[in-house]
Amino acid sequence: MNDHNPSRRVFLRTAALGIAAVPLARFATYSGNAQAQDLPKAEDGHALDYVNDASEADHEKYQSGQKCESCAFWAGEEADGWGKCRHPEFTDVLVNAEGWCNTYAPRG
Ligand code: SF4
Repeated sequence: MNDHNPSRRVFLRTAALGIAAVPLARFATYSGNAQAQDLPKAEDGHALDYVNDASEADHEKYQSGQKCESCAFWAGEEADGWGKCRHPEFTDVLVNAEGWCNTYAPRG
């Protein structure tokens, strides 16, 4: 079979690029493009001993005054005291500025 037909070559090249782009488009969907307003609010116990009110943390690592708002993973408030956390366990929820989990890391 002879492949000297330029339009056939363009078609095959375009189809190959389209197929290659599908996984990339899906990855983009999973890579943090979720809008904050679409995310549910984390519930106590979501992960890593998380609680929405740090004063209710019943954990040996908790120290008074620690809360999401002052954590290195805190990505900033979105609305009404809720915001995103950069820790992988919390990418699909909003956390409370007054919350806490056992991975709390003070901002440097
Ligand atoms: Fe809050 Fe834990 Fe996220 Fe820090 S890592 S912002 S303490 S949920």
